[in-house]
Amino acid sequence: MTIENDLAAICGSDFASDDPAVLGSYLQDTSFTPPGRAECVAFPKGSEEVQEIIRYASQRRLPVVPRSSKISFHGAGIPAKGGIILDLSRMNRVLEVDPAGKRVKLEAGASWGQVTPELAKHGLMVCPPLLPHRDKSVVTSAMQREPMLIPKSEYSEMLLTAEVVLASGEALRTGTAMGQGMKGQCFPDALVPGTRLFMGAQGTLGIITWAILKAEHRPAKDKLFFIPFERLEDVPECVYRIQRRMLGSECLVLNRLNLATILAESPGEIEKLSAGLPAWTVLLCLSGFHRLPEEKIAYEEEALWEITRKLGLKPDVSVTGCGGELIPRLRQPWPDETYWKDHYRGGWAEVFFYDTLDKAPRYLAAMTEVTSRHGYAAGDIGVYLQPVERARILFYRFTFYTDPEDKRQREMVKEIFVDSSQRAMAMGALFTTPYGSWADMVYRRAPAYAGVLKTVKDALDPDHILNPGKLCF
Ligand SMILES: Cc1cc2nc3c(=O)[nH]c(=O)nc-3n(C[C@H](O)[C@H](O)[C@H](O)COP(=O)(O)OP(=O)(O)OC[C@H]3O[C@@H](n4cnc5c(N)ncnc54)[C@H](O)[C@@H]3O)c2cc1C
Repeated sequence: MTIENDLAAICGSDFASDDPAVLGSYLQDTSFTPPGRAECVAFPKGSEEVQEIIRYASQRRLPVVPRSSKISFHGAGIPAKGGIILDLSRMNRVLEVDPAGKRVKLEAGASWGQVTPELAKHGLMVCPPLLPHRDKSVVTSAMQREPMLIPKSEYSEMLLTAEVVLASGEALRTGTAMGQGMKGQCFPDALVPGTRLFMGAQGTLGIITWAILKAEHRPAKDKLFFIPFERLEDVPECVYRIQRRMLGSECLVLNRLNLATILAESPGEIEKLSAGLPAWTVLLCLSGFHRLPEEKIAYEEEALWEITRKLGLKPDVSVTGCGGELIPRLRQPWPDETYWKDHYRGGWAEVFFYDTLDKAPRYLAAMTEVTSRHGYAAGDIGVYLQPVERARILFYRFTFYTDPEDKRQREMVKEIFVDSSQRAMAMGALFTTPYGSWADMVYRRAPAYAGVLKTVKDALDPDHILNPGKLCF
């Protein structure tokens, strides 16, 4: 019996494959992670099948790498040591929607493109990160802790509770999902640490089959403001003041290239559009819900004008002909086949981390210095800054756009990726999702922490079958 036969006996003959053409699509992505290898892919349709596959793999000491969708940009889902790929894309149901409790129960394979319109029917949304890929899993976005566009403290963690299949094949329900009596409540950690243990773990500690996530009511009315800046040095004070007064919902900062890439109707327009935009734009959306929406927006707008007047800034309701219509777009995944980051040069690599907002000019100077040392044009760097928890902390993302066909440029960007990551780490940046080569850089600096993680790993997955070769395992 081959592994394929055994998996077909669990999932059905149409739902297991060892065809190299099928496997090939799981073995590499657009990141610098080297191509992987795998013996077989299985497509389970529910928790029981996932458990059976894990028990089978555990008996044979076969690695298992979960994939919820195939939109892996950072190499986390590339199987480093062979084994079975567990493709959860058939487990894509919206299981429950609870508008009163503002939560939604999703299977791991449910994608942004599928979940967003489904929840809109109930007047709800899962707060999205910046224009996620439409085929990407909502649960993995939350599990990998992608920052949301609304910097309210309550959205810094989207995942409430989950069912996790452990390496033993047992299904653990985290937080208040574990007890019948507590099912109606939603605490990530109930009697012992629960959901948080599995966050950012890249499938190395357990496999999430379903999760309950926070949802937000869709606003009844919105008013979007664009606040232009020529110097990044002037941005932090404005954002701090806005967030201190708890104004608005979505709030983010984009440099001219990223804003142009999002606004352009065709790739050919990006450069021209970019040249006409301010160097930096703070996008702030004021929103009103079903009770007195206009009044809420009006008093927040008054506060916004008070802040910007004092700082000598001029917010506008549009930029180069684009206005409030951007808001519904920001509440959806990117709609086209070609992802927005692929529009400008066809490819990209990016460095992202957390630190405080006041350090933004210093990080920009460091990134510009690294790129210019390599001969990369500063104008080709896309910058996205996302305040989190009312700007208590800032998510930084520097995107180095590149032509994937241009081997020399790709090599240059690879070196920039390594140098800029090291430089940011030396400046105190926190890499909360250590993908690929970041793992070495992060865990080498924190040997005691890596030791504790290894103890947890040994306890939960003694044979290291779950996504081996990732993090410090
Ligand atoms: C800070 C940050 C910024 C990002 N920015 C963007 C962006 O701009 N656009 C965008 O589209 N994406 C972005 N991503 C998402 C990123 O590409 C992740 O790799 C994404 O989660 C992959 O989605 P996927 O559904 O294809 O996951 P997969 O490739 O299926 O898996 C991603 C990782 O999670 C593990 N995993 C998958 N499913 C499960 C499961 N059910 N249980 C346990 N582990 C599982 C995998 O083994 C793998 O390690 C960002 C991520 C982070 C952390």
